[in-house]
This record gives sequence, C-alpha cells and structure tokens, in this order.
Amino acid sequence: MLRFTFLRLALLGLLVAPAAVLRAASAEVPYFSDNGYGNPVSSLQHPAGEHHAGVTYVAYQGPHEDAYVAAYVHATASWIGPVLAGVSPMGKSPDQIDPAELDNHGKPALIVDRQGYIHVVFGAHGGDPRYGPNPLGEFFMGTKGKMTHVVSERPRDISRWRVLDNLPPFGTYSQWVKLSNGDLYLFYRHGGHRSDWVYQKSVDDGRTFSAPVSVLRHKPSSADPLVHDAWYAWFERGQGDTITASYVYHPCAHPRHSSHRQNAYHMRFDAVAGRWTNVQGKPLTLPVTKELADAHALIEATGSLSSSHGTCRVDALGHPHVVFPVAREVRYYRWDGHQWLPPVAVGAGAGRVNDGDFIIETPEKVRMLLQVTTEAGTELGWWNTSDGGRTWARGTPLLVSTERTFRLSALLANAHPDALLLASSRSATDAHLYRRMHLLGESGPLARPAAEAGHLGDRLEQVKLLPPPKLEKAEAKRKKKAGLLDEEP
Ligand code: ZN
Repeated sequence: MLRFTFLRLALLGLLVAPAAVLRAASAEVPYFSDNGYGNPVSSLQHPAGEHHAGVTYVAYQGPHEDAYVAAYVHATASWIGPVLAGVSPMGKSPDQIDPAELDNHGKPALIVDRQGYIHVVFGAHGGDPRYGPNPLGEFFMGTKGKMTHVVSERPRDISRWRVLDNLPPFGTYSQWVKLSNGDLYLFYRHGGHRSDWVYQKSVDDGRTFSAPVSVLRHKPSSADPLVHDAWYAWFERGQGDTITASYVYHPCAHPRHSSHRQNAYHMRFDAVAGRWTNVQGKPLTLPVTKELADAHALIEATGSLSSSHGTCRVDALGHPHVVFPVAREVRYYRWDGHQWLPPVAVGAGAGRVNDGDFIIETPEKVRMLLQVTTEAGTELGWWNTSDGGRTWARGTPLLVSTERTFRLSALLANAHPDALLLASSRSATDAHLYRRMHLLGESGPLARPAAEAGHLGDRLEQVKLLPPPKLEKAEAKRKKKAGLLDEEP
C-alpha cells in the first residue's frame, strides 16, 4: 500500500510536468495497455466498465475492432489483461492504418450482473440485411455488423468468454442500466439512423431478455417529406430505480444527408411504476415521437446550432443535471425543481473544449471532467462549480500533454474514486491507429509497469506492409457526412 501511495504521489507530481510522464516509461507508465484501436471508447457506448467487489473491469475497442477487457485489482494495485472478450464482425484483417477503413460504432459496453458474471455487448453499426428484415428500423447509411453479447464463463474472471446469442443483430450504441435489484436494461438504437431507440429488460442476469420496447420513434418527418425523424440518446440510472433519457434530434435527410443534430431533450422512467414522464412528472406514452418530445421534453431548441448527446446525472433532490455539447461549447443545464436554468458554457474561452461527464456533490456543487486543447497542448482535468453552475473554475489537471490528445468514456458504473473513467490517447505523429488506454481516478491515471503495458505483439510490424492511407477517400467520406455530396441511394 505504501508503494502504491508513493506511486500515486509521484504520478501526480509528474502530471504537471508532462514530458516527465512520458520519460517514466522505463519503469511505470500512466497507461495499462497500448492496444486500443481507432476510437476505443466514447461516452455513448456505456458503461465502459464497472467497479465490483474490489475490482474495476473495463472494456474498449482493441485490434480488429474487437472487444477487449482488462481488470484492475484495487487492494494490490495490480492489473489483469487485457484479454480478447469477443470478436467483432466489422473488423478488417490485417488491422488498418487508414482511419477511413474503420467503423468505430461497435464499441463495447460492460456490466457485471448480480452473480458476478461480466457481460459485454458490442460489434454492430445497425446490423446487416443478411440477418433478415429489421422490424424497428431501416438499413440506411451503410449499416453493418451484428450486435454481439458475450459473458464471462465464470463470475469475476475475465480469462474466458462465450457468446450468448440472445439479442437482435441490429443494435448499435449499446448502453446498460442496472437497477438496485439487479434487473438489467439494455438500451440501444435498433438499426441505422432511421430506427427506434429501444430497451430490453432482463430479470435473470442477462440470460433472457424481454422483447424490445420502443422508447423513441423513428418516422417520416411531419414537417418535411425529405426528412426522417431520428435520434441520438443517452440512458443512465437516476435516483433510486429511475432511468434518465437525455437526447438530441437528427433530421435524417435524403437526398443531401448531413450529420446535423439539434436540440436538447430530457425525460425519465420510473422502473417501479413502469411509467415514463417528463421532468415535471407529466406521463409520456411510448414510443415518444418528435411531436411529443418537442411539446413535453424539450430543454432547448438549438436550431441550426448542432448539438450532440451528452451525459445526465441526478442530484439528491431528484433533479437532473445535463450536459450537451452544442456547437463548440459544452453546455451545462440544471433543473432546479421549477425550470431549466439557462445553459452555461463550461470552460468557455479556455480553448477547444470536449466532453463533460460530471459528479454531483450537492445540487449546487458539481465537478466536471473536461478536455481543453490550446496551442500549448491538451489538459484533461476538473472544472468546478459551487454556485449551481453559474460559474466554473478550472481545478486539478489529471493528464497534461504537449503531444497527445484524449478520448473519454462516461463515468464507469459504481466507480471507485481511483478508477472513474477510461481514456484513450494518441499522438498526431503515430503512423498507426493503436492507442494507449488510461484508467483515470481522482488523482490521475493508474500506473502499470511498462513491461506489462505492451500488448501489440508484432502488429506494428504487420501494419508497415499496408499501403498509405487514402486521403481522397477520407475526404469524400467527410464531405458525404457533411452533406456536401449526395450519398448512394
Ligand atoms: Zn441520418
């Protein structure tokens, strides 16, 4: 324990001198693996891990876009893995060095059930027509993959896994919510853009699930015949046995598709009463349509300003606090019991700001993790408010680098203070798509002996044989996404 404490202090000291962090590689490194791949984690597929019985289990996208799992044992400050937990049908072999060749949508979400079995769902971007018709969505915008559910063969043991073939193949953006009695809810989008967001409930530790229940409805827009109502949503356990849903609207156009998303919405589910309501408690009938959401669940209409899914937490009074990235801001919204207080752009003026999952201490006191990038480099650290979100002050940095940038998961389930969330990092000079994986706690990343943190084998040699990235293809993909080119029918 003494060694552990010393190490943590040493790391903390090193973190304000970023060059020194990287020089520490000869002994201890601030990452547990170097085999993250592409975009290994996101706040959308979540939780990326869970703390259970003294161990934090984490999942991320590794080589071949497969699901990898590692474990950190808090009492001994030691690591297990990573191990290959499940194979993604979307991965290409050999591993690619061209980012345009990766799908990146099938990242894993992990939960530990009542008995200690570890479940991971991953591997799809809307499913593939070869699996038959999708009753709750359309094959649109290049859907592929197969939603895959794997479970550890033994409780609390990540060494061996098997596939549980008990979910539809079409899901993407998988999100687990576990309630106090152990009931599991798996939320996901049931196909491509033009699909319902659904949940399936399991009362037997993920061995069987109810049929999908549509929460958000996809349909042709009533306002524009060329547009289809589509959504990006984020689900999380709220106070007690409630589930929050925070979401944004995607006007899915054809032709001239664009990735534009707008507005900010919130509603919640009382799992005991089996009732969905808006923030004022007005009952909502499922599936919620665009019209119903606009009338009863809207926090802010952002119009032409693009919004993106964020995260949502609930305070001790049962009031939601929500973050949505809007345009170039990370906007914080709080319900005070009567109204949504005006949004505040956290970290405004500090640089380019990304992400923003947060911890509520009291309704007035909140700590948010932000990544701020300036010409000087990137800083990942706390921003704090003690006046209910009106003002935010920069707090302790957890990771600082002049050359590396980071991607964050949402907070892990039941997170231990030493292991709050996952981050991946990359250097712009890397001639490959492998990423370092960091497990970050209150004081920064947990360390690992350098000799244990290398998991690439001969992959760096293998990718040297590949042709260079096709820059034109990446540009065409970017333009198509931005709506500058019509897509294929
Ligand atoms: Zn779309």
